[in-house]
Amino acid sequence: MFINLSVAARELKRCNFNYSIYNSYAKKSLERKNISIDYDNLNPLYIDKNGCRICEEDQSYVILENGVQFRACYKYAKTFQTILNNVLKKGFPIAEVIGYRPQMSRGKLDSRGNRTEFSNHSFGSAIDINPKSNGLYGQCLSWNKDNCRLILGGPWRPGHDPHSIKRNSLLIKEMKKAGFLWGGKLAGKQKDFMHFSKEGN
Ligand SMILES: [Zn+2]
Repeated sequence: MFINLSVAARELKRCNFNYSIYNSYAKKSLERKNISIDYDNLNPLYIDKNGCRICEEDQSYVILENGVQFRACYKYAKTFQTILNNVLKKGFPIAEVIGYRPQMSRGKLDSRGNRTEFSNHSFGSAIDINPKSNGLYGQCLSWNKDNCRLILGGPWRPGHDPHSIKRNSLLIKEMKKAGFLWGGKLAGKQKDFMHFSKEGN
């Protein structure tokens, strides 16, 4: 099933969202803000490179064949739904998907240690798949389970945990074909095994 609420809602010309702000000292979100503004007055910070906006009205509900639900930018909802239903059919178990989730969790720190830029989940243009089996790791220039430090989610155990995303899997290939890169192949110290987005980060 596929529901697109966005077109009718956008005609209302009102953009609503609430977001959390990640604090690097506390290592968690300490603040949450509610915003309601005119669509015509959107701050450039509220729109990503691909034209997805942070507004709830820009998000579509995706319901997979096994009942798992999430929200994503209306531009990508159908693509995500098709690919995920296809890999489900081919035997990859999907227990949880996190799409739209507005949060300031990037960019420079302000004087109180708060992050100042929105993540790509804030626009519904990224998805996390089975986070409990595909963690985000730091200290990880190349993958090594003893050196890489688990920051978020559960351990990545491809070949042992069926919910872990394997390198060269159908899921990664199909997402790449659709223009979405896997965070497990990020250059640099972080490996985000649950994450897919246009840039992979
Ligand atoms: Zn993510």
